[in-house]
Amino acid sequence: MKSLPYFCRGEVIRGFGRGSKELGIPTANFADSVVDKLPADISTGIYYGWACVSNGDVHKMVMSIGWNPYYKNTKKSMETHVIHKFKEDFYGEVLSVVMVGYIRPEKSFDSLEALIGAINSDIEEAKVKLELPEHLRLREDNFFTSVPSSSLTPPTNTASTSQTILNGH
Ligand code: ADP
Ligand code: MG
Repeated sequence: MKSLPYFCRGEVIRGFGRGSKELGIPTANFADSVVDKLPADISTGIYYGWACVSNGDVHKMVMSIGWNPYYKNTKKSMETHVIHKFKEDFYGEVLSVVMVGYIRPEKSFDSLEALIGAINSDIEEAKVKLELPEHLRLREDNFFTSVPSSSLTPPTNTASTSQTILNGH
């Protein structure tokens, strides 16, 4: 995929409520304005990379890009599981991510146990791959230290939200 690594940031919105948190694997959903800017060569599936909330620390992440049932599967969704234990939810805050590599396509599973097992193996794969020197370098990228100050206080309307979105690099 020629668009990788892919840098993007935007507001965390409420998702479809499919209970990811109950599975122990919460996924922060990006606002539509971020999803709409995804390059065409970035297909659905599971990705790994780096993520940071507002101006916090940079953590490893796994991201699922899939078809959003809320829009009758006509629109994509981007859901990031940050590999870190947060004390509180961060709805409305700015999430910055760099997608570094691709793990696997979307799949359907016969059981919840099989799904959880697959996600946990995605997380393990992400942890290992991100230790490669070429990937560790991206963690130090200026992108993560240059979160626009206007985006540190959650914007109150969608017009100002879209101005904080930064795609490409
Ligand atoms: P939703 O359907 O609203 O996305 P989830 O059950 O997927 O609900 O929970 C996602 C929310 O959990 C995120 O928007 C964020 O505020 C919070 N959260 C807490 N810890 C994490 C984490 N490690 N990774 C992603 N989101 C997290
Ligand atoms: Mg979610």
